[in-house]
Amino acid sequence: MTFIEIVANVTWLEFSVGTSLGFPLYFFVLIPVSIYILYTEHSQRFRFIFLGCAFIFNILGYLFFFQILSFFLPETDISFPALLTFLTFNTICVSFMIGFLSLYFMLHMQTQFSIIEKENSVLSEMSFRDELTGLYNRRFMKDFLEKAFASSDKEFCVAMSDLDFFKQFNDRFGHEAGDLILKTTASLLSPYSEETKIAVCRWGGEEFLFYFPMPPQNAELILNQIRENIEKSVLAYKDKLLQVTMTFGISDSAKNYGLLSQMIDDADSRLYRGKNEGRNRVIL
Ligand code: GH3
Ligand code: MG
Ligand code: MG
Repeated sequence: MTFIEIVANVTWLEFSVGTSLGFPLYFFVLIPVSIYILYTEHSQRFRFIFLGCAFIFNILGYLFFFQILSFFLPETDISFPALLTFLTFNTICVSFMIGFLSLYFMLHMQTQFSIIEKENSVLSEMSFRDELTGLYNRRFMKDFLEKAFASSDKEFCVAMSDLDFFKQFNDRFGHEAGDLILKTTASLLSPYSEETKIAVCRWGGEEFLFYFPMPPQNAELILNQIRENIEKSVLAYKDKLLQVTMTFGISDSAKNYGLLSQMIDDADSRLYRGKNEGRNRVIL
């Protein structure tokens, strides 16, 4: 609209008051307008065609009105000081309009870019988080552990954990209560990751996988604290009290596993040993 308005006004002014008063200068205002259109949500092809046409149009318009039309239109009967005043006024107006539009478009684009940046960071955060618990998801943890496994200079251990009798829990209290327990349990697991650089993810349904950048004895101590916290935590849900326990299995990198998957499987088999030995325990 701005583009068409400028062209219409310049054309009308040229024919009504003559070419010598500097009105063709208003064509230069089309430059920031054209550049802005380049950044709007049109297809790449449209943008380039538009910008090319606008550029050629600006030059031709300027040449036509200033250079060619002045030969055909009668000279404006106006004194030199008045002419100079008009030219100065128009030049100032054009400079102001170009400055104002450029600033407006720059600020507008900056706002758009920061909105897009925020959306991108939210999307990338979502791509490595589990929706229900807010913990890291399996994909993120796999990449993270592969890197830790590849740089084998530091000792670390992984722990697999699984809620006890969760199928029965769901059958008794319902899936919604199960989800609530999963969220609460996750909140009991994650504070440790902030302090001690422990990473924890939701590996599957009600299974969680831990990374500990420390010897397994230290991990065992922390996991026993977590296990006790889970055991002690009682959640009021409708008119019922919900309580669960969790079993853990630890494996550590000092055992020189050939593959990360072997290390995780070893933690898993210790977890199942813990299940067989009565659950609600940490097996190293
Ligand atoms: P065990 O002590 O041997 O682990 O017994 P279990 O009943 O927990 O057995 P298992 O680990 O195989 O049970 C998995 C159950 O977890 C099945 C399913 O009902 C439940 N579950 C998995 N994902 C979700 C979830 O996102 N929400 C809810 N509410 N339940 C889930
Ligand atoms: Mg399970
Ligand atoms: Mg289970």
